[in-house]
Amino acid sequence: MGNQVSTNGATGCVAPASFAEAPASATVKVTTPGGYDLMITFRATKVSDLLSQAQVVEGWLISHNFTPALTRPTGKPAQADAPTCPEHGKAMQRGKYGWFCPVKVGEHPQTGKALYCQHSVKDGQS
Ligand SMILES: [Zn+2]
Repeated sequence: MGNQVSTNGATGCVAPASFAEAPASATVKVTTPGGYDLMITFRATKVSDLLSQAQVVEGWLISHNFTPALTRPTGKPAQADAPTCPEHGKAMQRGKYGWFCPVKVGEHPQTGKALYCQHSVKDGQS
């Protein structure tokens, strides 16, 4: 089997990489000259290697007229872009099926269990 380690010409000397442990990795989001968003992930075993790779990648991207991809309102909603509860004005938290308001509104009179605000935003609503 061939060795699939590719340096992309980034560095002359690459130590045998062992990815048994989580290597350093970085992801850049760029927009191609044609307007496509592209996500590039590169990895290294050391942060210092990663940073020098990042410099090479950045230089390449700039010289090929790639631009940084910015989070645009037309894209999918970002994780941090939480809706706010109309009743409590608090940022909702991400649940399994959507967003929910984390505000505790009382206790169940019989069980004493905490009751939470019923406001939620399901995925797929817009
Ligand atoms: Zn609420």
